[in-house]
Amino acid sequence: MAIATPVAERTRHFSSSARALLINGEFEQASSGKTFDTVNPASGEVLASIAEGDAQDIDRAVRAARRAFEDGPWSRMTPSERGRIMHRIGDLIMEHADELAELDCLDNGKPLTIARAADIPLAADLFWYMAGWATKLNGGTINPSVPYMPGAEFHAYSLREPVGVVGQIIPWNFPLLMAAWKLGPALATGCTVVLKPAEQTPLSAVRLGELMLEAGLPNGVVNIVTGYGETAGAALAAHPGVDKIAFTGSTEVGKLIAKAATGNLKKVSLELGGKSPNIIFSDADIPAAIAGAAMGIFFNQGEVCSAGTRLYVQQDRFDEVVEGVAKAAKAVKVGPGMNADTEMGPLVSREQFERVTGYLAKGEQAGNRALAGGHAIDGPGYFVEPTVLVDTKPDDVVVREEIFGPVIVALPFSDVDDLARQANDSEYGLAAGVWTKDISKAHKLAKRLKAGTVWVNTYNVYSAELPFGGFKQSGWGREMGEEVLSNYLETKSVIVQL
Ligand code: NAP
Ligand code: MG
Repeated sequence: MAIATPVAERTRHFSSSARALLINGEFEQASSGKTFDTVNPASGEVLASIAEGDAQDIDRAVRAARRAFEDGPWSRMTPSERGRIMHRIGDLIMEHADELAELDCLDNGKPLTIARAADIPLAADLFWYMAGWATKLNGGTINPSVPYMPGAEFHAYSLREPVGVVGQIIPWNFPLLMAAWKLGPALATGCTVVLKPAEQTPLSAVRLGELMLEAGLPNGVVNIVTGYGETAGAALAAHPGVDKIAFTGSTEVGKLIAKAATGNLKKVSLELGGKSPNIIFSDADIPAAIAGAAMGIFFNQGEVCSAGTRLYVQQDRFDEVVEGVAKAAKAVKVGPGMNADTEMGPLVSREQFERVTGYLAKGEQAGNRALAGGHAIDGPGYFVEPTVLVDTKPDDVVVREEIFGPVIVALPFSDVDDLARQANDSEYGLAAGVWTKDISKAHKLAKRLKAGTVWVNTYNVYSAELPFGGFKQSGWGREMGEEVLSNYLETKSVIVQL
């Protein structure tokens, strides 16, 4: 791999010094004094040492969040004041966009150009959008009918109140953006937070912690405990002082979170895996659909929960489309994310590299044929070729399981009924893509697909305004949009007899 562009001095300084936990507005070492390393996946080299928080640190952080929720200035601020702080957080993210993009590029491996164009502005926009909700969380007036109290008159209304102390556990694929998706609605609703970033990519969350204090967020409102899922994450999910847990990551860990939450029956929202179908009809704009299928899987190294991993193509255009996608796969410029012309970086970690190459080996054993890619790329980093697999059967492991890498499987379909059955034949239901010029067909199919998001003649379009989440084992609840607010609010009915 070619030598990558050097990072800016400010980023180098931040990413190369030891990073601490953020508890009650102070950066502190872990109680145990332990640290772990975060690695640059483009080179395998250690970037920085990070405080390894565990159950004891989680407990300190939860107590700080509880104090900030019950007594702190945060709960006494007006919604407008809270919204203005959130707006400043968005502004500061954009003022530091180059640095944050470099941190996510170094820590995660993703192309710098993509982090700068997508991850960072989306994170800022999420805070701006959610800042507007802080002043609009109103209940309603209600006129109750009470059959056993004839003649009685009431004045009744509902209040929407923050759920309390929230635990948030996030993955490594969009490090800053996943932190923003979680923190934005929690802050808009007036909750306080303990956030646990993924062990692979803690840097931008810690930097965001600094920026949030600079924006005027009171101490203890957001606490950040870096560390491992099995220790810090599990302790957060089980903690009796946490009122709600929000998780994004694998379906397997999502089930552990749901179990851990039963102790105090904390509220749970889950944004989990996917195996999303991207569907191309014969009447589609074929060049646009081919480009969309390639982007739908190779964007962010395929490490996207909504990636279009199952490509369904109507039989008579199948060969043409899969050859087009294979050609696009071969043209993707793979390299270190810091290089300006890189289109796809390395996978995030050795573990993820082994997981993805393990699936490629399973596919080969099952007789799947790689029209493009199919192998790891030599080098010190965790690079895998953009891969297009054909000759797959509906029950093959690569068709059923989430690979979370740049691997697409292609299958033919005959008509809409055959397609809808195949597309919905998955334990997941996160997203789907439909490519056709027939607008009625697109809308009818959008209704039949069991997926939380359906993209028509486009793919991977995200916006703070659009609810995002999954049917079936892709999760509970929605992120973003107005809908996410309900994850963080309790509704109270107040009834006054007149
Ligand atoms: P993961 O284990 O589900 O990690 C997600 C988050 O959960 C991380 O912060 C992780 O901490 C934490 N965690 C792990 N075990 C936990 C536990 N027992 N209790 C509480 N928190 C826990 O995902 P992964 O291992 O990084 O990736 C594995 C697979 O998950 C991927 O191949 C992909 O299929 C899927 N995935 C999905 C998404 C998505 O957006 N839906 C994102 C990432 C991964 P540590 O990282 O510190 O262990
Ligand atoms: Mg893990």
